[in-house]
Amino acid sequence: MIPERFDTWLTVDRKGLFCRPGGFHIDPYGGAQRAVVTHGHSDHARPGHARVLATRETLAVMTARLGTPAEVSSQAAAYGERITIGEVAVTLIPAGHVLGSAQVLIEWKGARVVVSGDYKRSADPTCPGFELVPCHLFITEATFALPVFQHGDAGEETAKLLKSRMQFPDRAHVVGVYGLGKCQRLIVLLRDAGYDRPIYLHGALAACCALYESFGVRLGDLKPATGAKREELKGEIVLAPPSAIADRWSRRLPDPVTAFASGWMRVRARARQQGVELPLVISDHADWRELTETIAETGAEEVWVTHGREDALLHHIQMTGRKGRALALVGREDEDQ
Ligand SMILES: [Zn+2]
Ligand SMILES: [Zn+2]
Repeated sequence: MIPERFDTWLTVDRKGLFCRPGGFHIDPYGGAQRAVVTHGHSDHARPGHARVLATRETLAVMTARLGTPAEVSSQAAAYGERITIGEVAVTLIPAGHVLGSAQVLIEWKGARVVVSGDYKRSADPTCPGFELVPCHLFITEATFALPVFQHGDAGEETAKLLKSRMQFPDRAHVVGVYGLGKCQRLIVLLRDAGYDRPIYLHGALAACCALYESFGVRLGDLKPATGAKREELKGEIVLAPPSAIADRWSRRLPDPVTAFASGWMRVRARARQQGVELPLVISDHADWRELTETIAETGAEEVWVTHGREDALLHHIQMTGRKGRALALVGREDEDQ
């Protein structure tokens, strides 16, 4: 029996989702007194909080990207470690999204609430896999919450890239990747497929790769693309931030094949519009099936949706006899874009 309605103690204010009996926000906008941060992507990990609780990996990402993660104190929690904050117990659980990513389990007066953060269920060798936690209220992301989104097998998408490279040995393959997570996952996918040539990196990707390696994720031979001779890059794979694949930067590459690794590549029109010749459907978010199955598996009778395409998911939640609510948190983006 749950003693109180969830919306009496989990509220949404200007800074985002707030747990009243714990006195903390989750993934708040800047300047919260106390923040629990699910992962290092910039729409979740923001600067200026007084105190931050996160995994050691997420704190390291925040330090690398923002300077120090908190103005007064940072606290690292190991996955599965139960920490008391105010009247509640908080436990960070692997979310399978990127290095250090966590779901937040909040326990108070017998009620169990899980805030998913961004998550995926498919395998990713660069971070611990998503762990399902039974709960009364599940607060989920909804980035790809439309039935059209089915991410498929990342290994098969990686094989497409390697095949294209064989077909066009004189061209470079430039792949747009998000810097934290997608970049390192694609590198490991390539390595697992037996690709052991150097992989060339746009300068903006180097720091996150170094960070992953410092946490024991082996990425093999990486070289800076900047400064490499045009001739040297023939037949090679070059990774760059999505914004760089269509701009001046990629013109230095020999006749590049433009690829983009993203869940959005399921939408052909979007790939065409972005000038992507080789769309690779590789996503670090749950697709429609993962979202709906996870909701069912948590056993939650109530589900809140934080950000993304919430309409279809809310409809599904209500059709399956659960109570649903859209939080419509502003300022969250799709880092996959
Ligand atoms: Zn994210
Ligand atoms: Zn997000």
